[in-house]
Formats: sequence, structure tokens, C-alpha cells
Amino acid sequence: MDRVAELLEELKTIARNPKESVEIALRDTGKKGVGCFPIYAPEELIYAAGAIPFGMWGGPIKGNLSDRYLQTFCCSVMKANTEQALLKQYDILSAVLMTTFCDTLKCVMENWKVASPQLNIIPIVYPQNRKTPSGIQFFQEELTRVKKELEEKLNCRISESDIQRSIDFYDEYREKMNQYMEVVRGYPDTIDAVTRHLIIKASYFMDKKNYIQKMDELISELRKRQIETTGREKRIILSGLMAEPEELLRIFDENGFHVIGDDLAQESRQFREEGPSEGTWQSRMAKRIAQQDGCAFLYDAEKTRGHLLIQMKERYQADAIVLIQMKFCDPEEFDYPILKKELGEANTPLLYLEIEQQMDSPEQIRTRIQSFAEMLA
Ligand code: SF4
Repeated sequence: MDRVAELLEELKTIARNPKESVEIALRDTGKKGVGCFPIYAPEELIYAAGAIPFGMWGGPIKGNLSDRYLQTFCCSVMKANTEQALLKQYDILSAVLMTTFCDTLKCVMENWKVASPQLNIIPIVYPQNRKTPSGIQFFQEELTRVKKELEEKLNCRISESDIQRSIDFYDEYREKMNQYMEVVRGYPDTIDAVTRHLIIKASYFMDKKNYIQKMDELISELRKRQIETTGREKRIILSGLMAEPEELLRIFDENGFHVIGDDLAQESRQFREEGPSEGTWQSRMAKRIAQQDGCAFLYDAEKTRGHLLIQMKERYQADAIVLIQMKFCDPEEFDYPILKKELGEANTPLLYLEIEQQMDSPEQIRTRIQSFAEMLA
């Protein structure tokens, strides 16, 4: 097996086995772990505290314990997270940082206090008007409060210089991820849609320091190879919260699609925006969120997402946009009519898919993707 294949296999195994990967990371580093609800959790603060942030993006579940606490119209990501919490899978974590971007997240936070009182929950509120001076000020104060709570829960002190160093480190991570996104475009056969996704996902279950080292090596090994010119001809950009489960991406692979870029909250939106390199730690972190555009989960009066997708399509010469909508995810649902109109006016082929993480039978989606492939041919 060559080095690229080895690295891909290693990272894919980490992404496919979150619990084991988290346990290994905690054991190998001797650090504490903090769970991070989607989206945009301030991981820099956790890293500055000497702990490892781990992503909590749901996953496949079998049981229905979460039904005791959640409504039937709750999104499958929160159902999965709640199920895992009730099964005490998160008890290895020293705290859980809960973002509150939607009504579901706000309710889940209150439910968890009753359902899993053993977990140290730290809420974080993002301002709606994140670009105004008062919005930035509010978020800076909120970050300061979260830092204080982290210090209490992790029994540590986090200094200004610790956080500045951590933000610099995360800037390095974001830069590395953006390099990865550029490089993988040239290797659609080695790094198909499933692999591309799993390599990014692995970052949620590792110490980022180890992850960056692996990515560094992977990128430089890939650059030594010849660009792959054959194979997948239908170039698409994925948009939405996340492109899971894995079977969904496998259908795209089977039908000759090449994921040339993404606008997914679980993937590019985490690192495409670089923050300012100067200022207090609070202002650097708050301004990065203020700058982030084109995301259904951050209030955007101008609704820039459609424009951003059209620009991406042109930049990467994509053939179509695939909008992957998590069932019952209100913020995403509100964006769809606007996107449909804007992309239609720009003559941009659009495939809209509604998914759940617990997708028992993907046949309906398979048929839609096959038809879309034929339409683009
Ligand atoms: S409704 Fe959407 S934003 Fe809210 S928790 Fe579910 S997937 Fe996330």
C-alpha cells in the first residue's frame, strides 16, 4: 500500500469510528475532551484550555430513547446526539459546548439538563446581528463568559496568550484545509466523494495537531502525483448542513459525479473564512463569525448564499448544485425557496434532496440521483 492509501485508510477509519477515535485521542494525549455541538463552536477556547474539542454531528442510531425527550419532528442530528447522551456515550467528555442556532438546539439544551445531568453543559449564544458593533460587542462578552465556564469545568486557567496562540494555530488548520480542498479537485478517482468527506470528518475526532501533520503529509504526497484526468465528468457543488450518511455520497460516486467543491456546514463553512490576525482574542473570534456569509444558520439580511453558490459554480466550472436538506431543519428550509428562485434565474441545474442520518432505504434518493445524472449527461 502506498503512503497516500495508508493515510487515507487511517483517516477514514478514524472518521468511521468516532467513539474509539475519541478514546484513543484522550488516552494518547492525556488531555480532557470537550464535545462541540454544530455549528461554529469556538474550538479555539477549548484548545487554549489544553483540551481537545470533538465534533458532535449525530450519526446512525438504532434505539429510540431520545423519543422521551424530543418531538417526532426533531432533526435526526439532535435525535442521534440525545440518544448517545442517554446511552452515556459522552460521559468520557469533561464538558459539552452547546450552540443555539435554531429552536431545536435551544430546546435540546434544556432537555439535556434533565436527561443527562452528569454532563457539564456550557451554552453559547450567537448574536443575530453579528455584523453590527453591538452584535460584535455582545459576542465578545459571550466568548468571555464561555471562557470562564470552561475554566471552571476543566479546572484550569486560560491566559490571553494561550488563546492568541490557539487562534493562530486554528488559522493554520484552516489554511491547511483550504489547501486540501484545492488539491483534492485534481484527484477525483483516488479521493472520491465518500473519501473526501471522511478525510474532513476525521478532524472532529482527533487532536488537531496530529490531524494537521497527517494532512500535511497527505497533501504533499498527492502533489507528487499526476493529476487524474479520466473518469468523473459531472462536476457538482454540495450545499447544506452535511452530506451524510456515507451511502448518500456513495450513490454520487456510483453515478460518475465529481464533488468539485462544497458549501456544507460540516465541511468548508468551518474553515473557508479566515479571521483577522490582529486584535484582542475576543475581537479576532467575534469578527471571524461576523465576516462569515452565505450560511443558513447565521442571520444574513442580504441572503448572499445563492450568489455565493453561483460564484462557486463559475469558479470551479461545476455543472450543478446539489442542495442537501436535513429533514426538519428549519433554517435550511427557509433558505430553499430563495435559492431555488436565484439558481433558476441563473440557469443553474439544482438537485434538492431531503435526508435523515438514519436513512434505512436510500432507493428513492438513488433514483433521483440517477435521473439527475442522466439529465446532466
Ligand atoms: S434543526 Fe438544523 S440547525 Fe437545528 S440542530 Fe437540527 S440540523 Fe442543526
